[in-house]
Amino acid sequence: MTIQQRLQKIQQRIRSALEQAGRDTHVTLVAVGKTQPPRRLLEAYRLGVCHFGENYLQEALAKQKALSHCQITWHFIGPIQSNKTRDIAAHFAWVHGVDRLKIARRLSEQRPDWLPPLNICLQVNVSGEESKSGVSPPEVTDFARAVGALPRLRLRGLMALPAPAEDFEAQRRPFQRLYGLYEELADLGLDTLSMGMSTDMEAAVSEGATMVRIGTALFGPRQKTV
Ligand SMILES: *Cc1c(COP(=O)(O)O)cnc(C)c1O
Repeated sequence: MTIQQRLQKIQQRIRSALEQAGRDTHVTLVAVGKTQPPRRLLEAYRLGVCHFGENYLQEALAKQKALSHCQITWHFIGPIQSNKTRDIAAHFAWVHGVDRLKIARRLSEQRPDWLPPLNICLQVNVSGEESKSGVSPPEVTDFARAVGALPRLRLRGLMALPAPAEDFEAQRRPFQRLYGLYEELADLGLDTLSMGMSTDMEAAVSEGATMVRIGTALFGPRQKTV
């Protein structure tokens, strides 16, 4: 299948999930390009995709250079180590997966002043279990207020990366939980629910996702080398 065919199929899946759920949410597709070479990203870009997500900083910086002639909005979606915050703050428009105040403070301090505030989604651990990342649901409110107060960040919403689940109902539960937390934070003026990947985008969209992060469904299996 070509990237064009894959993209059409994704758009169809999102449309029919919206229809079935009776929603008219605008869903932004973030193309997750980890391990894919720049020419594959360029192919998607030429088909109209303009949001790209990357997990690994060095790989992302190389691609940004290769694609500097494109009008791309770059999202950092990987785990964030504190020694990487300076580059992340300077080279991305969005960061998903913020789950520590220390990291948020660094991103705010290091966001260059010639750039607009950095868009942030807080990662929430909605799968229960011993998931390594994400703030726990009871902590979300205080954390969101603290991050929202940082001057060079713009808190946009919440993000989740639930444990894989087989059936649709099991996939929906964590997304439902994230939506509930999102609604509780209504007074913060959030507009983004970043949830849903290749195998669970329908469940996420049906629960109110405004942004889905799609890798393999768009680019095919991940490559071994970049
Ligand atoms: C890799 C990744 C995705 C995309 O996963 P696919 O299953 O390939 O669609 C989405 N979000 C995050 C945080 C990822 O690391």
